[in-house]
Amino acid sequence: MSRHFDAIVIGTGQAGPSLAARLAGAGRSVAIIERHKFGGTCVNTGCIPTKTLIASANAAHLARRGAELGFQVNGDVCLDMKRVKARKDEISGRSNKGVEEWLRGLKNCTVIQGHARFDSPHSVVVNDELLESDKIFINVGGRATIPAFPGIHDVPFFTNSSMVDVDFLPEHLVIVGGSYIGLEFGQMYRRFGSQVTIVEMGPRLIGREDEDVSDEVRKIVELEGIEIRLNAKCISLAKRESGIAVRMECTEGSPEVVGTHVLLAVGRTPNTDDLGLEHAGVLMDEHGYIVIDDQLQTSVPGIWALGDCNGYGGFTHTAYNDYEIVADNLLNADHRRVSDRIHTYALYTDPPLGRCGMTDTEIRKSGRAALAVKYPMSKVGRAIEKGETQGFIKISVDAETKQILGAAILGTGGDEVVQVLLDVMYAKAPYTVVKRAMHIHPTVAEFLPTVLSKLEPFA
Ligand SMILES: Cc1cc2nc3c(=O)[nH]c(=O)nc-3n(C[C@H](O)[C@H](O)[C@H](O)COP(=O)(O)OP(=O)(O)OC[C@H]3O[C@@H](n4cnc5c(N)ncnc54)[C@H](O)[C@@H]3O)c2cc1C
Repeated sequence: MSRHFDAIVIGTGQAGPSLAARLAGAGRSVAIIERHKFGGTCVNTGCIPTKTLIASANAAHLARRGAELGFQVNGDVCLDMKRVKARKDEISGRSNKGVEEWLRGLKNCTVIQGHARFDSPHSVVVNDELLESDKIFINVGGRATIPAFPGIHDVPFFTNSSMVDVDFLPEHLVIVGGSYIGLEFGQMYRRFGSQVTIVEMGPRLIGREDEDVSDEVRKIVELEGIEIRLNAKCISLAKRESGIAVRMECTEGSPEVVGTHVLLAVGRTPNTDDLGLEHAGVLMDEHGYIVIDDQLQTSVPGIWALGDCNGYGGFTHTAYNDYEIVADNLLNADHRRVSDRIHTYALYTDPPLGRCGMTDTEIRKSGRAALAVKYPMSKVGRAIEKGETQGFIKISVDAETKQILGAAILGTGGDEVVQVLLDVMYAKAPYTVVKRAMHIHPTVAEFLPTVLSKLEPFA
């Protein structure tokens, strides 16, 4: 038994459902396959649950600052973790249900639940059924990496997937991994009321960022009482009477941190290992990411790879942009490319970090002549009024073209404000456009012209 479709989409993450809807809307018969939860990582175990939980943590943090802001909370600020989780479940669940109902309601679209594996370049098998198509779109995402630490099989641990379902307060949460996911969970749980230790293998937190960004983020989270352990080599895990030990070789500090609970946040692994790609001849790189060209086509004609599984992005907006590129190229004969997009993302600590374009390190490596400025948030009126003056605004521009090369806005509203600069970068307009613009008072964005008036040769 086999069924033929004009297109097959594997996975219902951030690219698959929109692509299926667009193709079905254009009259193509589409099969979309999901093995687990509709909406994938972002909806169920990533962006939506974490940002919902962070909202509860930040509200608790603000309530604790009552004395400073002129109000009083009668009694201690205590989190009811069951209600915190119930709120997260409701918001995340609504999206999950919304994606499923949307797909099931689409004309020309067949929803199939099960694990898909390639059988040939033009067919996949799901639940023992063969589905055939000349166009197959892979949107299988990734999962938390489980490192081969000695002792890992002897102790319980959380990953992002299980951590978002916690409905109690861990007494002491030890997080292995001091990058984006580790930091977001770390500050969240500290604000919920846990003792938190972050153990990082590298010499600094968020090692992909510039050193001054890493240092400032470290200062911010340490001020809240999070303990940071850097340069932790040879990590192993072991059971102790009082909990779980994370053991490490390090240059300073105790070689062992014992916590009541451990969260592993050491990276992501693409879900490409059980997809039968070898039957289709689709090439992967040494990390298991599917090799694609600038229009997201794999090494096999008629097969595309979108989202986290292609290693070009790692964000919801990059997965969604992948869908737009593929759909516009196929249906509108538009020649959109992955290389047209500008790197941008945010780290949702409080204050957040909004990033776009190149880092200082990348600019230095490129050898181009640049101008740069760094401006403290403590001089930004809006931040002062809110009592949130941590961080800085950092912008670099090309000395010749005057176009913006990159920015890091670590400060209140940084995730939103950075997009003012991003859009000017997409327009390929000079920074002077922002410098001459009139912005709304009082906002963080209104300071961008002031900041840009202080550009100096890049050190
Ligand atoms: C804790 C955390 C926080 C995050 N926060 C943010 C954020 O704030 N902003 C942001 O932009 N990004 C964030 N991300 C990243 C974001 O979640 C991902 O980049 C995004 O979800 C990737 O989408 P995707 O479509 O590639 O895959 P996914 O969303 O992972 O979806 C893939 C789907 O494919 C299904 N699947 C896999 N294999 C098969 C198969 N063989 N057969 C059938 N179905 C299959 C899976 O079950 C899954 O539903 C976060 C990630 C994590 C882990």
